Amino acid sequence: MPMSPAFQARLFPTLPSIAEHFGTPFHIYDEAGIRETGARLKQAFATVPGFNEYFAVKALPNPAILRLMREMGFGFDCSSIAELVLSRQAGARGEQIMFTSNNTSQEAFAAAAADGGCILNLDDLSLIDKVPEFPELICFRYNPGPTRDGNSIIGKPEEAKFGVAHGQILDAFRHARERGARRFGLHTMLASNELHAEYMVQTVEMLLKLAEWIGTTLDLRFEFINIGGGLGIPYRPGEAAFNIERLGAASTAQLQEFAARNGYVPRLYTESGRYMTGPHGVLVTRAINRKDIYRTCIGVDACMSALMRPGMYGAYHHIDVLGKAPGPHDRPVDVVGSLCENNDKFAVQRPLPEVADGDLLAIHDTGAHGQAMGFNYNGKLRPKELLLREDGRVDLIRRAETLDDYFATLSFAGDSFIVGTP
Ligand SMILES: *Cc1c(COP(=O)(O)O)cnc(C)c1O
Repeated sequence: MPMSPAFQARLFPTLPSIAEHFGTPFHIYDEAGIRETGARLKQAFATVPGFNEYFAVKALPNPAILRLMREMGFGFDCSSIAELVLSRQAGARGEQIMFTSNNTSQEAFAAAAADGGCILNLDDLSLIDKVPEFPELICFRYNPGPTRDGNSIIGKPEEAKFGVAHGQILDAFRHARERGARRFGLHTMLASNELHAEYMVQTVEMLLKLAEWIGTTLDLRFEFINIGGGLGIPYRPGEAAFNIERLGAASTAQLQEFAARNGYVPRLYTESGRYMTGPHGVLVTRAINRKDIYRTCIGVDACMSALMRPGMYGAYHHIDVLGKAPGPHDRPVDVVGSLCENNDKFAVQRPLPEVADGDLLAIHDTGAHGQAMGFNYNGKLRPKELLLREDGRVDLIRRAETLDDYFATLSFAGDSFIVGTP
């Protein structure tokens, strides 16, 4: 099931007046749903000692959402300076922040070490000597290569740009210890939007085996393993949800076996983005045009700048036409934005009830990697974000971009350089 029936029941009856008040388009997120998912995750891992979720900030980098995550006791996973700043503004410090960057710059290392630091998760062997002040606690992102499959969003591990190769991982920890590391973590992220709990169970298994091998070879202990994000959500009607309880139970069993063999147990961390917020957001947009050419195109007032996933990955996002129930006579239409790009389509040949100008469309599951992935190509501006509170109030949590925002980088002190003769 895409968007939950409970969220629909909370939102749809009042959506016309919300749209009237705030104007379309907008993403609207559901506080109650996010809290429920957080509680369910904690419950599923209740038997895992020291479990914690580090919410992947890139999925939904809004301070109001990060505050919810903090209230639930979660940390943050960051991979840019802006995300570090947001996390610290939300009150997270030190080991409540995991910094998992790739192709990391000196500037990013400095930001990671500033303001109480964070858990540094290094992506390559070559970075060890580039960390200005080597921390006591260090983590490496592991890439198992051809021994594991990935999927279409993130690619095969073997072809991915992420992580330390299997043949380098011992050297990584050895060298980190030479630089002064005394506390250790192990990280991986192999799949994206993975719907099978079994795949993630295998990831836990893989990391524990690796931790055991590195631990005995180098005589060190791991404080934690982090299985990354990638827990999937059902975007299509009829798809089964990720079985989080199964992952929690299987992880518990594996950690117990690890403890029996090794005499200690590392904590287990996740850094889910999509799983936490994906189903709890909707892009609300109004139909403004319709054209009947070879196909019927329903033109809406949002475009790719608000949601890249359909254009970028061919991703399916379910769509409801507000107040019109789907029926057997629905005809396939393309739902399109206004960008001069033919992949600016929220849906392709999707059977929908008859849409008239002025109808509201709810595009489901935009709570993660939606607004955040938006861009400004073609001068298109990103929409506002709203938060439906548990008490029914609706808060504006980000205003829409304006032309002034778009032109802001054209206001600068001039600079010219004439290459002189030596
Ligand atoms: C993107 C990302 C995540 C979150 O991925 P989801 O699919 O949203 O769960 C977690 N960790 C890292 C390192 C990432 O790059």
